Formats: sequence, structure tokens, C-alpha cells
Amino acid sequence: MSLANTTWTKRGGGSCPQCSSPYNNRYKPPNCLECNFYLGGSYVPTKKARLTVPKCTLVVSGEMSIYSTYTSSHDDTCLVVIDNNGKICHHQTCKNQRAILANSQKLEQFECKHLKMADDVKEPLAVYKSLSLLASYPCDDTTKAKLKEIEEKCSENLPIIVQVSPTMYCVLGAPTAKNTVGYCDVRVRGHCAMLFQRL
Ligand SMILES: [Zn+2]
Ligand SMILES: [Zn+2]
Repeated sequence: MSLANTTWTKRGGGSCPQCSSPYNNRYKPPNCLECNFYLGGSYVPTKKARLTVPKCTLVVSGEMSIYSTYTSSHDDTCLVVIDNNGKICHHQTCKNQRAILANSQKLEQFECKHLKMADDVKEPLAVYKSLSLLASYPCDDTTKAKLKEIEEKCSENLPIIVQVSPTMYCVLGAPTAKNTVGYCDVRVRGHCAMLFQRL
């Protein structure tokens, strides 16, 4: 390669000899993105524009750790719980697998791709420890009382709402037999998203 072929625009960058469209040397494409002139680079831009959605986000850490992990379907997440009693994944397929292992006394063998994601955990985008808007929330007294109850239950280690991605929130609720953790994933869009941002 001779330098005469390339017009240097700035340090670490170059430009296409044919159309002078600039490129960064670290991300030099095989062909010019503008005119397709052969540049000889090897950088192929990926079409994954979903970088804002982390694979795994921490919801709660401590004796019981809760993670919100990304599943293969569109911007969907599932909860993973790790504590002294073992590992639980709330993804339906994994739940079924876990039940089979439990039946044959092999629960300690339980692993799934979501649990593995917890190795590379990211901090949540936002954590809310109270519902400051609760007083003005338009709902009946029973609902308000329930929300108040949940708010009182949450603490430093048990935040009421954890934002795991631009559109997904992990919201603390009352634990049920099916969901002993009490957290569930909520997708928030439009109007609701604005309300959440004002919390
Ligand atoms: Zn070009
Ligand atoms: Zn799983």
C-alpha cells in the first residue's frame, strides 16, 4: 500500500481516494461506504443497534441476588434469583427444566443461559426506593393501600422499581406462590414511561 493512494485527513483516519469520504483507520471498511471503492479494510459494521439493552442487570444484591436477564425475544427480560437455597430462573422453559431436575433430586445441576449471563452483570439505569408520586396517583383506596404496603416493605436492599433497560422496569409487588420474589418485569411505553420518569 502506498501513501499516494490515500488522502490523509487527520491522524488515525483516512479518506476514500475516489470520493474522499472519511473513515477511521481502526474501523476501515473493505469498501467505501459511500461509493464502494475498494479500501482494503476489514471492519464490518454490525447491525446490532441494541447496545442500550444490557444482557443482565442487577436488581437486588445480597443474601438473595436478583438479576434481570435479556431473553432472545424482542427486548424481553426474565428474572434470575440466586440465594442460599439455590438458583431459580423465571423463564418458562427453564422453570420446566428445573422442575424435572427437582423431581429426580438433581436440582444442584440446574443451569441455564440466563444464569450464565449473571457473570457479566451491569448496574441498573435507575433505582427507586420510594413512590414519591403515590399521594397523587389516581387510584382507589384499596389500590393505594396495597401500593403503600409494598412501599413500606421496600428498603435500601429491596428497591421498589429498578430500571433495567430504556423500556423495561423491574417492579416490586406482593410475593405470590408462583413468584415468591415479588418482582416482575414491566415494559413501560409512552405515557407510563413519562410517569415513571417523574417518580
Ligand atoms: Zn468512496
Ligand atoms: Zn433461564
